[in-house]
Amino acid sequence: MTRALGIVRAAKLLMQSQCPVCGADRTETIGGARSPIAICVYRCTAEFEVDGNGEIIPMNVCPSASYGAAARLNREARADALRQAGGA
Ligand SMILES: [Zn+2]
Repeated sequence: MTRALGIVRAAKLLMQSQCPVCGADRTETIGGARSPIAICVYRCTAEFEVDGNGEIIPMNVCPSASYGAAARLNREARADALRQAGGA
């Protein structure tokens, strides 16, 4: 089960063409079909891999989480401003 799960998790990771945290484009992949080995590197410098226990783990954490949070707050504030401008 562990190897089978590792293969499914590797396939799942390899499907992530953008950083799961911030959406930056992927720049490098290692791994292939029916293998429990997978590494994905993203433009933001985040790296994820499937480890020896068959689990997806971050090798280098995405540095953009705060930028992503700020962007979300900006979108929410813009929606608030548009609602207020609409005279609600
Ligand atoms: Zn990222």
